Amino acid sequence: MERYVHLNSWLKEKFGERVLKICVDGGFSCPNRDGRCGKGGCIFCGANGSGNGKRNVSISEQVRNHLQSYRGERAEKFIVYFQSFTNTYDTIENLKKKYDEALSVSDKIVGLSIATRPDCVDENVAKLLASFADKFYVFVELGLQTANEETGKIINRGYTNSDFENAVKLLRKYGIDVVAHIMIGLPNEDKVDLQKTVNFLNAQDITGLKIHSTYVIKGTRLCEMFENGEYKTIELDEYVDSVVYVLTHIRGDIVIHRISGDAPKEQLVAPVWNTHKKLVLNGVDRVMREKNLMQGQYFDF
Ligand code: SF4
Repeated sequence: MERYVHLNSWLKEKFGERVLKICVDGGFSCPNRDGRCGKGGCIFCGANGSGNGKRNVSISEQVRNHLQSYRGERAEKFIVYFQSFTNTYDTIENLKKKYDEALSVSDKIVGLSIATRPDCVDENVAKLLASFADKFYVFVELGLQTANEETGKIINRGYTNSDFENAVKLLRKYGIDVVAHIMIGLPNEDKVDLQKTVNFLNAQDITGLKIHSTYVIKGTRLCEMFENGEYKTIELDEYVDSVVYVLTHIRGDIVIHRISGDAPKEQLVAPVWNTHKKLVLNGVDRVMREKNLMQGQYFDF
């Protein structure tokens, strides 16, 4: 029995078969790096902007390469995931061109997933995304990280909770599913902050949730903070407990896209447990099973 709504199972039910994601670097930048809204980026963001670092390869080639590499996976349906940096930060013409390029590679592509910042979603972006929705399942992964505005400043995210709320409303107005991205283990955060973030999310019309562990990678401001003792990473046990808290307090209709971070091994500084995703997955499953917990069990109406 699944104790929370897993993305893979949910997709299997929606499409009638297994669906895999293809990560693409669309060559975008980020307004929090180029000076439009900030400089230096979020303190945890590495040189590849959470992406695969394949920006010197064309979008269609990246998709083709992935399809090729997935040949042994017995999957016939795929979702293109624009992952790196801010994937709505361009002119509408360029965005359309890039999304079209990815989606037209193969008729096995059934979905479009876009990772972006709340302050980079406007009516034109929402309309553009909605224009793909008759042929593809379209959803947007929207960064929140935390509902604590003070932490928001510490991590230099450069947007507010109201930016997030407005972007969710706008996307939902156009029928686009929204996946909130949060991080556990951010500087100065404790259980009360997590509680605040979960309560905030429960009041938003989101359809999915991605829970990410905070990890330190080389060359980031967070790495400096870690090295000079200003920041301490979260322990595995505490992380597992925190994920269980989120799962049991978040609404039961929200699809859980992820419950751990996937740190690039060669760039990871800490915590070491972050390279073993199974430790988190198994740890959360074990606690949920032993305590007979289910997603949304303690959701407060
Ligand atoms: S918004 Fe995303 S891409 Fe931009 S600095 Fe923050 S984490 Fe990096």
